[in-house]
Amino acid sequence: MSRNSELFDRAAKTIPGGVNSPVRAFRSVGGTPRFIQRAKGPYTWDAEGTRYIDYVGSWGPAILGHAHPEVVRAVQQAAENGLSFGAPTEAEIEIAEAIVARMPSMEQVRLVSSGTEATMSAIRLARGYTNRTRIIKFEGCYHGHADSLLVKAGSGLLTFGNPTSSGVPAEFIQHTLVLDYNDLGAVESAFQKYPDEIACVIIEPIAGNMNLVKPRPGFLEGLRELCTRYGAVLIFDEVMTGFRAGPQGVQGLTGITPDLTTLAKVIGGGMPVGAFGGRADIMAHIAPLGSVYQAGTLSGNPVAVAAGLTTLRLLGEPGFYENLTERTSQLAVGLQERARAAGLAFSADSVGGMFGIYFRDTVPTSLAEVSESDVELFRKFFHGMLERGVHFAPSAFEAGFVSGAHEATHIEETLSIAEEVFATLKSA
Ligand SMILES: *Cc1c(COP(=O)(O)O)cnc(C)c1O
Repeated sequence: MSRNSELFDRAAKTIPGGVNSPVRAFRSVGGTPRFIQRAKGPYTWDAEGTRYIDYVGSWGPAILGHAHPEVVRAVQQAAENGLSFGAPTEAEIEIAEAIVARMPSMEQVRLVSSGTEATMSAIRLARGYTNRTRIIKFEGCYHGHADSLLVKAGSGLLTFGNPTSSGVPAEFIQHTLVLDYNDLGAVESAFQKYPDEIACVIIEPIAGNMNLVKPRPGFLEGLRELCTRYGAVLIFDEVMTGFRAGPQGVQGLTGITPDLTTLAKVIGGGMPVGAFGGRADIMAHIAPLGSVYQAGTLSGNPVAVAAGLTTLRLLGEPGFYENLTERTSQLAVGLQERARAAGLAFSADSVGGMFGIYFRDTVPTSLAEVSESDVELFRKFFHGMLERGVHFAPSAFEAGFVSGAHEATHIEETLSIAEEVFATLKSA
């Protein structure tokens, strides 16, 4: 029995499903997850000493590559000065200033410890600020696992949604309207039906949790206009895209200004940091200034903040995003060329350091279209790549990540391995 299998069996005895976050369990692709022993730059090594070129990137945070020496040093130094104080520190000001300086829409920012906390708090704030209860989210967007966000669309437009998790009472999601991504008409109808009741629209401005789905031209602009017209708060959930899609997230790429933004993943550089922030007049409603309660024992943790701050500083080096975008596009374009040459229905897309691969002819624009991709073929592709030392995300519905440590040679190696795997898919 392989060491990975041994560990997976052992893990399952004390940890439900053997993992601490469900997608790690390989349920949608089958097989045994690799237990990672260490990681460096673009590589991970599993418990059997097998090396992988890694495109999971800890699901987003590892934008500099794994274990960047300067980030590791910053963490070590911070740890020596104490792990947590429950009192403010200067480093928290520095990271807040770094975020505010880079994201023009964010005048003030509050740190939390995860993306889930960031979105949950931003929605509470939007409700407190507007004195309204309804919220709009989009099918296929993931905003963490707060109760009111674990909901999928019902059978008809503007009907009640259904919980996507048991344990979420219908009453908890009755204020959540779930609409199709890229369907501006549906958003307009919702506002017409409930003109004074919608507190906020929350969206992944480029969706990375249903594979990669970009907004159609005009969609985000339309959301901005409707939110302004009806007095609702526009929340960009940039937990994944913040400092990943570009140096100022999707808001920097599109020039659209949300009222609130949520961040996590990259801003912690591999440590638990999340944040929400935006207009100062809205942020003034958060405790201790205002009546919207929000708190955290480990919020702004000094060791985590040291990792995040160092990461943000390194991301500011000239050419970082140009290079990252180029490498990521090289991968996406190269995969598409090779898959199509092998006669497969395949498309790919990328933005900044994130990419999507789809076993279907065209790049999708909604969850319904993403769901039409050939999951069985993805499964075979995933395992073919894994066996040959390339670790993609173990699901057809997740985006992939390239880091600053992935050089052209790593991408070329990945592409020639993919060519081999595509050939086996064709003959299968
Ligand atoms: C990952 C993610 C979250 C949840 O963040 P956690 O840190 O896992 O709680 C929320 N929103 C988006 C867009 C994400 O990608």
